[in-house]
Amino acid sequence: MSLDPREALLAPQAQRSSESVGRLRPESEHSFRSCYQRDRDRIVHGTSFRRLDGKTQVFLNGKGDHYRTRLTHTIEVASISRTVARALGVNEDLAEAIALAHDLGHTPFGHAGEEALDRLMKDHGGFDHNGQSLRVVEVLEESYPQQPGLNLSHEVLEGLRKHDRTLNHPALGTHPSPSLEAQIANIADEIAYYGHDLEDGLASGLLPEKDLESLDLWKEASEKAFSESSGLLASAGPRTHRKFIIRCLINREVEDLVSTSGEAIRSSGVSSVDDVRRHPVKLIGYSPELKSRNAELRRHLYANFYHHPEVQGTNETACRQMESVYADLVNNPAHLGSRSLTRLEGEGLHRVVADYVAGMTDSYLRSRFEALS
Ligand code: MG
Repeated sequence: MSLDPREALLAPQAQRSSESVGRLRPESEHSFRSCYQRDRDRIVHGTSFRRLDGKTQVFLNGKGDHYRTRLTHTIEVASISRTVARALGVNEDLAEAIALAHDLGHTPFGHAGEEALDRLMKDHGGFDHNGQSLRVVEVLEESYPQQPGLNLSHEVLEGLRKHDRTLNHPALGTHPSPSLEAQIANIADEIAYYGHDLEDGLASGLLPEKDLESLDLWKEASEKAFSESSGLLASAGPRTHRKFIIRCLINREVEDLVSTSGEAIRSSGVSSVDDVRRHPVKLIGYSPELKSRNAELRRHLYANFYHHPEVQGTNETACRQMESVYADLVNNPAHLGSRSLTRLEGEGLHRVVADYVAGMTDSYLRSRFEALS
């Protein structure tokens, strides 16, 4: 029996909490929350979730009060995930839980920080934020006296294992695709970051709007924004102007995703969540037209924004600070936190240092660097 009566109304291809394969350490059911509602709450109440507030998205924290952090990005991903999951009749709670946990393993200083930590760890197994998000929920969060980690349901862990294509989760077996809810959270991440990176790029002045006008997706969203505002867009202030165009752009992405995926699910013949997992290709995706427009936008952002000298320069300084803090901890393990010291023997010095550095906020890493000099 499901604890959530609304689950009876879900599409046959949805993952129901009553059909969960459970948790690594079995637990009794809560009296009124489903397993995925509990997972969501465990993630939100975790220490790593709170630290997302102090971690950079593209810009380094402190450069402006309106730019995104990992926390605001995560909330946007969860919001888009819920919208798409509800529209397709699948499990919103599961999609939301995966979305809320998807970036818990991110380092300070955004992707530049991740690349720097991966370089530092190249002889010790490397570093990647997706694998680290799993480590956070399976090992590093300390919420239970019985075991490390959050003891999340296997379907949430499956959703976090997004780059491990052949083995989605040991408890769920080997199959080519994860649940629809996991696929939704993965694409919602992309919709959120392209939308808000565009907005932050425009707000910063590093990404001039006139350069976006050659992109089909931007042109289409601008035209839609102009007509929906009954022409008022032309006289709106710059913040409202860019926000309204990006609103239209995100809406275009979500509408395309829902209609294309709904059609793919219907025509695929899959009729259960097991069928979804056995299906050789992912069923959640954009139309070919939108896919190529997104690819054009992505190329533009990489060429003109993510690698902009101003973003790059700040990132390089931040990465040098990370290298110094990492080296200090490797040379002086006593500078680690007391809980990290207890894991040294089992996990090895470099992995424990990487976990410790990855968990830092931007400002904490900067203060550790300043204390060295
Ligand atoms: Mg993300």
